[in-house]
Amino acid sequence: MNARFHTLSGGIAASLLIPVLGVNSVFFWASSVLIDGDHYLDYLYRNRLKDFSVKRMFDFHGHLFRNGQRQNFLGLNIMHTVEALLLVYGLSALTGWLWLKAVLWGMLFHMLVDVIYLYVRGRLFRRALSVIEYAIRWRRMKRQGLQPELPYTSTLQLMFGTPQGQVGESDHQD
Ligand SMILES: [Zn+2]
Repeated sequence: MNARFHTLSGGIAASLLIPVLGVNSVFFWASSVLIDGDHYLDYLYRNRLKDFSVKRMFDFHGHLFRNGQRQNFLGLNIMHTVEALLLVYGLSALTGWLWLKAVLWGMLFHMLVDVIYLYVRGRLFRRALSVIEYAIRWRRMKRQGLQPELPYTSTLQLMFGTPQGQVGESDHQD
């Protein structure tokens, strides 16, 4: 789902929530957009901290999305998980802070938009919505010989020409 769409849809929802959230609507809007920052974390994890370029992160996810229908593809975005939602929910319940509740609602709104988008494209089950689900499914795929790491390593190989995301020295400049 592209960032512009999230910025726009989150902005509209945040303005509609002003009567409820007041100035905290800003936190709703910010979290509904910034949650996608975990695509960057995913990129760093997959390339084993060898490349930090934001531009190449977008290239990487573009390639992956095009290959996302492959049987052996399984994605995880850490902020888009039940565990992340539970953590923010727990903190907001403990503190009672309205801004943190607004962050939680922003995350939920973003995930709802993502889930509809993925469902329409028949990709809903290509992304795990829980860290535990991801670990179980990844292990099962390995047992079935599906090589779930392959879409990631082959995308990195396509981008950098080296296996396993071994980025050359010259690729470090942004
Ligand atoms: Zn998202």
